[in-house]
Amino acid sequence: MLSASDQQALLNWYDEHQRDLPWRATDDPWAILLSEVLLQQTQVARGLVYWQRMVEAFPTVASMAQAPVDAVLKAWEGAGYYSRARRLHALSQRVVLPAIEGGFDGRLPSSYDALLSLPGIGPYTAAAVASIAFGQPVACVDGNIRRVMARQTAQPAPAPTDVQTWADGSLHAERPGDWNQALMELGATVCTPKRVRCEQCPVAPSCAGRSTPERYPLPKRQRIKSVVMTAIVDHDVQGRPLLHQRPSAGLFGGLWGPEYLEGRVQRGEKYLHAGVVKHQLSHRSMTVDVLVGVSPVASDGVERAAVATSTLDEKVLALATRALEASMSNDEDKRRSYEKKEVGDGAEV
Ligand code: SF4
Repeated sequence: MLSASDQQALLNWYDEHQRDLPWRATDDPWAILLSEVLLQQTQVARGLVYWQRMVEAFPTVASMAQAPVDAVLKAWEGAGYYSRARRLHALSQRVVLPAIEGGFDGRLPSSYDALLSLPGIGPYTAAAVASIAFGQPVACVDGNIRRVMARQTAQPAPAPTDVQTWADGSLHAERPGDWNQALMELGATVCTPKRVRCEQCPVAPSCAGRSTPERYPLPKRQRIKSVVMTAIVDHDVQGRPLLHQRPSAGLFGGLWGPEYLEGRVQRGEKYLHAGVVKHQLSHRSMTVDVLVGVSPVASDGVERAAVATSTLDEKVLALATRALEASMSNDEDKRRSYEKKEVGDGAEV
C-alpha cells in the first residue's frame, strides 16, 4: 500500500503535472463516461478526437438513446472495437427508461454497483465513473495501475485480486477521483512500460522495484493469429459498391462492408485482382486479397458516406475503386500496376 505521505506526494505531483485533457475540465458524468469507454482500448491522442466527436453528436444520454444505433456507429467510425459503440447505445437506452422499468429516469447512476449493471460497463469503468464523476471512494485498476503496483511491490506477476487489494488500500478517501487519475497518470507518463522515469517519480522513495523496474511486471504473451481472406467487391451501374450490414455479434458487427471469404479465392475473368490489403487488428494480422467485379451486377449499391465502415473496409473499397477505374481507362500498364499493388499495414483495434 502507499502511505499517507506517498498519497500526498502523488496528488501534489498530479496537481502540477497532469496532462490538459478536456474530460478533466468537465463534471458532466455523461461526458466522463464517454471518455472512459473510449479510452478503454484507444490511445489518448486518438481518444481526444473521438471524444470530441461523440460529445458533439450526443451531448446527453437522452440524445444517444433517441438516435438509431447506426448513427452511433457512424460517429464511432474508425475508433475500432465497435462493440463498445453498440453497448454504449444500449446503455443510453437503459438509462432513459423509468426506474419502474429497470432504468434510471434519464440520469446516470452514481454508485459503483448500479454503473456495473449497465451494458458495456465493467469493473474498471464503473470504478472510474463512480469516483471521477461522483466522488465515490472506489479504487480503479487498469494496466497502468497494475504496472505501478507490480513495481512498487517488486512482483513480476501480481494476481488481479492482489492488485485490487493494493489499489483499495492505497485509495485517497477524500479525493478518490483525482487519486485514481493520478495513479493512472503516473503509469501513463512516468512509470511507463519502457524508458521509465524514476527520477521524476513522486513515490520513488517507497518503490521496491526502482532499481530494476523493467522486470515488473513480466510482459503478457500475446498470440497474433494470421488470417488470409478474399474481399469480393461488386458495384452497381452508378459505381456504388454493394455493401452488407454485418450481424451485430462478431468482428465489425453492425458495420457495413463487402463480402469476405476465407482464404484465397479465384473468381474467373469477371473479377479483377485489385491487390492485397494488409491490416493489423489487436489479435489478428489480416491479409486480404481484393477482387473487384468488372461489370455492374445490380442497382442497389450503397453511398459509402451514408453508412459506417471499418478502416479495413475503407482500404479495401479504395483499392477496388482505383483498380476498377484503371481497368476502365483501358490503360494496360496502369491496370498491371494495381494488380501488383499491396496496401501497407494499418492499425485498427
Ligand atoms: S520509482 Fe520508478 S518503478 Fe517505482 S513507481 Fe516510480 S516510476 Fe515506477
